[in-house]
Amino acid sequence: EKDKDDEVYLESYADLAIHEEMLKDTERVDAYRRAIDQLGASWSNSTVVDVGAGTGVLSVMCGKRAKKVVAIEASRLSHFLRKVVATNAPNVEVHDARAEDLELTEKVDVVVSEWMGYCLLFENMLPSVLSVRDRYLKPGGMMLPSKCRLLLAPLEDQDWRKQKLDFWTSVHGIDMSSLIPLARATYCGTPQHHLVDASKLLADPQVIFEADLHTVQIVDLEHFDAMMSVSIPAGRRLDAFVAWFECDFPGDFGETLSTAPTRPATHWKQTAFYLREALEGGGGCEVQGTVTFQKHEVYSRGYQVSFDLKVPGRKPRSEGYELR
Ligand code: SAH
Repeated sequence: EKDKDDEVYLESYADLAIHEEMLKDTERVDAYRRAIDQLGASWSNSTVVDVGAGTGVLSVMCGKRAKKVVAIEASRLSHFLRKVVATNAPNVEVHDARAEDLELTEKVDVVVSEWMGYCLLFENMLPSVLSVRDRYLKPGGMMLPSKCRLLLAPLEDQDWRKQKLDFWTSVHGIDMSSLIPLARATYCGTPQHHLVDASKLLADPQVIFEADLHTVQIVDLEHFDAMMSVSIPAGRRLDAFVAWFECDFPGDFGETLSTAPTRPATHWKQTAFYLREALEGGGGCEVQGTVTFQKHEVYSRGYQVSFDLKVPGRKPRSEGYELR
């Protein structure tokens, strides 16, 4: 099952459109470029590994700074990657292999990778990066990015509920409300990746997961949970929890790639977990909850996410989501 999931996943990266979208995401590319330009000033004797090099954008940037770059790419795109690096940075050595199978004769100074998926961890590529780190990064070597965190904030979004659920109550004058349960199962059972309007957030975000890429272990990614406490002001309502992530690059200059709704959009957008029913704030209420991320029991690259919510005087609620 895992091999099949890997095959489907890697095959998706043979699709040019995905790479085009990532390359046109200037927030993403510029954050890496600024970090590589700053840190790369001291790399003239260093070897860098780029895990999941794709079209080679990061390998070429590193190749201009480092003595040598090892670019690893497991999808069929590696054929083109070879050509791109030959044209732009001949000190980049391409390995058409899975990161887990990489074999090198020497240790390296830097591991760079753009491994982040929707909601940071979906797609689950980070373990592949860690396998390279654990086998080949020199003690004291550098990870790019070096830290990551997942944030969560409550959202009021009545318009979404109207457009996606209430819509069915009158469709061209026809009562299709019998489809509402299906719409709810479709849209409230899977996280929705879209741009949310930051003005609809009900509170500041809470960090629900964070990792230092130098030390995080694969097991840390398999299950985690966090307590949440959210005040819903009088007259407002909780429609969804919205997740996004940030990644920090090492060094003093503080480069961060943020996918927050208050920042310019990236191709990751944000990830909204819509509640099956909105939680009304009434005269104002305090919601206590737990959010749990669990690696999917069937799909090796997916997660199951659940929210357990308690409001004093009301029935507890539990909401579950699947990302495959
Ligand atoms: N570094 C490129 C591509 C990032 S997308 C850029 O920044 O534009 C991630 C890439 O990693 C994809 O091309 C995918 O095929 C590759 N990849 C994912 N898992 C991998 C693995 N285990 N081994 C090698 N390549 C992998």
